[in-house]
Amino acid sequence: MPKVKARKQKPAPKKKPPKKAPKVTPQRMGEIIDGLTRLYPDVHCELVHRNAFELVCATIMSAQCTDDRVNMVTPEVFRRWPDPHALAAANPNHVEQVIHSTGFFRNKTKNLIGMARALVERFGGEVPRTMPELLSLPGVARKTANVVLGTAFGIADGVVVDTHVTRLSNLLRLTGHPADAVKIEQDLIQVVPREQWIQFAHRLIWHGRRVCIANRPQCERCPLPCPSRLTVGKPPAAKPRAGAASASARARPSARSGRATSA
Ligand code: SF4
Repeated sequence: MPKVKARKQKPAPKKKPPKKAPKVTPQRMGEIIDGLTRLYPDVHCELVHRNAFELVCATIMSAQCTDDRVNMVTPEVFRRWPDPHALAAANPNHVEQVIHSTGFFRNKTKNLIGMARALVERFGGEVPRTMPELLSLPGVARKTANVVLGTAFGIADGVVVDTHVTRLSNLLRLTGHPADAVKIEQDLIQVVPREQWIQFAHRLIWHGRRVCIANRPQCERCPLPCPSRLTVGKPPAAKPRAGAASASARARPSARSGRATSA
């Protein structure tokens, strides 16, 4: 009988340790806050609105959509349904037609009308001023609730975490969580002084739109102490002769990506 070789069992893949939020020193955090404040002394929410109800509506519509696009649509929305009572009684087909260009219009319509009905039925037609009450409204998660509390009522209950805050918090290494908005907010709350929560989020959003633009950050214009800064302006590495790559050239992992790998 030929011998049958025993199959080697593959070793179980090593589990990666859970990512910890990197340490952010008060000094570096202060430099980031000061840099952003100098760049954008007067910031505001760029969703055009006249009251808390309009801001809730605009923020619901802003999901997966630019503020500019939302601002093109909201004048007609607010003209036709100027308050929670009007929107609660709206024909969904008509709302869908008006907000169509903001994307995900069916779901947004459902949330807008559901939110307006909840305001009428449970809050006397007023936008509530607490996080738990806001979170009980259809279509309102922490981002929208933080936008409304901070911008409409000046209440700092948390930090707004949108796509720009997520991206910049990671580039600036203020969080160890690449995409979990709730955990990013918790990390930011630990390192940003409470009196800065509202303005800090606005400033990060403005920076993400004007300088640290997704996929083409203008690092040469950016004064922030950022570990992800592009190494622009450096002379290109000399091409090694065939078979003579130096140790330093081999050990330059960031040369291709153009990104520095440490602070
Ligand atoms: S240095 Fe560059 S990557 Fe870092 S925050 Fe500024 S623009 Fe963004």
